[in-house]
Amino acid sequence: MRLPALVLACLLAPSAWAQDRGPVIDMHLHAFGFDEYGNPPPPNEVTGEVPAALSDADAIRATLAAMKAHRVVLAVASGPLEDVQRWRNAAPQRLIGGAYAGPRNALPDTGTLREQVRTGQIGVIGELGLQYRGQRATDPEVAPYFALAEALDVPVAIHTGLGDAGTPYGCCPTFRTSLGNPQLVEDVLVRHPRMRAWLMHAGYPFLAETKALLYVYPQLYVDIGVLAWALPRAEFHAYLQALVDAGFGKRIMFGSDQMVWPEAIGQAIAGVDSAGFLTPAQKRDILYNNAAGFLRLDRATIDRHHREAAETAPAPAQAGAVGQAAGSTP
Ligand SMILES: [Zn+2]
Repeated sequence: MRLPALVLACLLAPSAWAQDRGPVIDMHLHAFGFDEYGNPPPPNEVTGEVPAALSDADAIRATLAAMKAHRVVLAVASGPLEDVQRWRNAAPQRLIGGAYAGPRNALPDTGTLREQVRTGQIGVIGELGLQYRGQRATDPEVAPYFALAEALDVPVAIHTGLGDAGTPYGCCPTFRTSLGNPQLVEDVLVRHPRMRAWLMHAGYPFLAETKALLYVYPQLYVDIGVLAWALPRAEFHAYLQALVDAGFGKRIMFGSDQMVWPEAIGQAIAGVDSAGFLTPAQKRDILYNNAAGFLRLDRATIDRHHREAAETAPAPAQAGAVGQAAGSTP
């Protein structure tokens, strides 16, 4: 989050493609308070933009506006329960609530979670930032949540890969890069074969392990949260292309990992737009179709999303990460 970033504006999306792109589902958004990372909030590490929102209401408004501008018709928004509630109250049709475990937050107890799922406030168990808590997916404390997810047929989103530079020196002394290895999720997949799960951050940079899991467990999906805007673009594209070349283009879902920087949504979409190795059909799969399938959206909802997207003029191309590495990931 605090790495110096080389900021280069690049005009990426030819307007014809932007017109044509269709709706977007963001599988990796956060419902946080505006001051989750401090008050005032820290600047976006790629653009240097300082969030304008200095209240929770403004933060929600700014993110919903960015979603609309970029035709993001649906997003999984995870955070502490009270934050999720506030965000969903603002846009219940646009947001699926996610139960969040992170540096400062444990999951709600299973009884509360079951009730939240029943009322529709929570539709995903995750982001499970177990790595930040020094835990593995096989930790006994987490086991009841996977059982609950499978029993209730609620998708599970597991943080994998990395965290912000210096994480163990800051928020999370028990954080280890080794705990981000996606293979640590394997035993849980074996134990819960009907659980609908995805690896957040696509296991980056554990490419071989991620490919191994995707190959052996055909029900498993990944999202590209944070990678699409905070990594050097060549690095993001190389990783994305490796997964597509390996045959997993139908199981990669778009995610921004917007935390307190609404413009990250557009930056992340630009990361996909600018992937010259993808066909328009492959981009649409990543931006919308794969998530629509994973979430089992019905035909009427999909048609509505396409209509809504068509009614919104596409936003102008965004600045994106080009040069320097960065790596913020709650
Ligand atoms: Zn994460």
